[in-house]
Amino acid sequence: MNDEQLLRYSRHILLDEIGVEAQQRLLDSTALIVGAGGLGSPAGLYLAAAGIGRIILVDDDAVDLTNLQRQILHRQDRIGEAKAESGRRTMLELNPGIRIEPVVERVDEDRLAALVRRADVVLDCCDNFPTRQAVNRACVRFAVPLVSGAAIRFDGQLAVYDTRRADSPCYHCLFPDGKEVEEVRCATMGVFAPLTGIIGTAQAAEALKLAGGFGEPAIGRLLLLDALRMHWHEIRVPRDPGCAVCAGRDRNATG
Ligand SMILES: [Zn+2]
Repeated sequence: MNDEQLLRYSRHILLDEIGVEAQQRLLDSTALIVGAGGLGSPAGLYLAAAGIGRIILVDDDAVDLTNLQRQILHRQDRIGEAKAESGRRTMLELNPGIRIEPVVERVDEDRLAALVRRADVVLDCCDNFPTRQAVNRACVRFAVPLVSGAAIRFDGQLAVYDTRRADSPCYHCLFPDGKEVEEVRCATMGVFAPLTGIIGTAQAAEALKLAGGFGEPAIGRLLLLDALRMHWHEIRVPRDPGCAVCAGRDRNATG
């Protein structure tokens, strides 16, 4: 780190749990954010501010007037622009010393696998079930930790899956795609603006801990937030030994 970086990140470096070593690990890390919307906005801003060295931001959508109520990466004068490009601009304004790689495409399974493979941590900030399952499959395949968030109406969810650990479930252990799941999307449902901020920010916190190697990630726990009452509830989530995605895979392996 140069002098400017030592100053910029000094409030992290002052923390015993982080220090110069973990801050350097953050700078050397690559985070993949799938979705530059309500969750990806605060997550991306905090990862950029905190000095994740490379951020890959995936979104094939364009900024719309209805997004601006909560998607704080975007601006009024960028309506119609690609969200991944808009997000890149905002993050670089905040921290020009990092690299942002926008991916403006609807990623298929192969493309997703190639992006996940390059990442040290993945943040699922998307709004649909098929993408969540595809992201999870790639994370299990390449043993990359996954920080999953969801926000709809006043209800938020947060969980961390890290199949490098023997006791960690994967997303599919909790939400198997075999049974019909009612898909609720922000595109058509209401969502309380700061709820996406709370959950996306919590995703950033978990991703920084994983990339920096400090603290205790929320693995094996599903955190549920009722923002109307500001009440957090936690459920223990075990592995499903019969899971079609993660069962039988070598744990504590890196490939
Ligand atoms: Zn599983």
